[in-house]
Amino acid sequence: MTVRLRPTLAALPAYVPGKSVPGSIKLASNENSYGPLPHVLERIAAAAENVNRYPDTNSSELMDALAAKFGIGSDRLVVGCGSVSLCQQLVFATADEGDEVVFGWRSFEAYPIISAIAGATAVKVPLDGQTHDLRAMAAAVTDRTRLVFVCNPNNPTGTAVSGAALLRFLDEVPSDVLVVLDEAYHEFVTDPSVVDGTTLLERYPNVIVLRTFSKAYGLAGLRIGYGIAADPAITMAVRQTQVPFAVTQIAQVAALASLEPAAERQLAERVAEVTAERGRVTAELRNAGYQVPDSEANFVWLTNGPAEAGGIDATAFAAGCAERGLIVRAFADSGVRVTISNPAENDKFVSAAHELRA
Ligand code: PMP
Repeated sequence: MTVRLRPTLAALPAYVPGKSVPGSIKLASNENSYGPLPHVLERIAAAAENVNRYPDTNSSELMDALAAKFGIGSDRLVVGCGSVSLCQQLVFATADEGDEVVFGWRSFEAYPIISAIAGATAVKVPLDGQTHDLRAMAAAVTDRTRLVFVCNPNNPTGTAVSGAALLRFLDEVPSDVLVVLDEAYHEFVTDPSVVDGTTLLERYPNVIVLRTFSKAYGLAGLRIGYGIAADPAITMAVRQTQVPFAVTQIAQVAALASLEPAAERQLAERVAEVTAERGRVTAELRNAGYQVPDSEANFVWLTNGPAEAGGIDATAFAAGCAERGLIVRAFADSGVRVTISNPAENDKFVSAAHELRA
């Protein structure tokens, strides 16, 4: 006899993380290619001396620093064990068995998994080309909908919706449906038509904006992210669904150190290098004949389709990259996502892409 597991588990889609292969360059997980800033490493080392103690379960110091950064009360903030945990907590806080969670597709792979674990119905609204179809997403909202994810910029396509389209969408969604603006890649946005979700919160109290220290701040391994809402009832609900002591003290200390003005400036310089490289890599790929949507994130997206229309075969393209020592993220049915790294690693990818086109 084996233990009785929930039947839901058998049907769960798998989360396939980007692999690390010794000797290969990993461009598969949208990580920051830079290591932590030196003073952040020092604080991590100092905090490591106290790992016999539980962390501050309220992340108080970090909450205060984030409250100061955004000019809001800390009751409007919540810190979590990576923003993926916050996504899960928000679904658990809103959706019961049979309720609906709406999101564009393809988007962040965790959304359907989290929805299924909660017993909720995932409603996947096809992208319009490579971008969220916000009109269709608003139209997909029913009286069973409890939460809508808008991933902006979208993972894996890199596209972002304009502020005007987002406002129209938020006006259409009933105010008792939680809208999660997942802005994991916000710091990489350069298009001025894209709005910073935190500026919309006063007008839309049913919105929470999620951010992470994993990407621009380069702390992916520490698992720490945060959410900001206008309505403290939302942040409270997230806290209620968190396991005790979820966020380690090392993660809190590293995040806090990363918010110091000098650190923010250095991290912004790194982000600027990535966005400049994103432009260069996109132009190179287009020159080589690939169709590449404009990305507002730290990765680019190559779409499945006939080569003469600039498309690729995701599986074959990723295999070709792997033969050249580059690990990219293939979604067999739709395309390949490639993280923008430092210039040397990006050059290697660009050469591989040229060779694979030849
Ligand atoms: N949202 C999106 C859109 C992401 O791509 C990711 C990371 N892949 C996350 C959330 C989760 O980030 P983390 O849990 O590392 O904060």
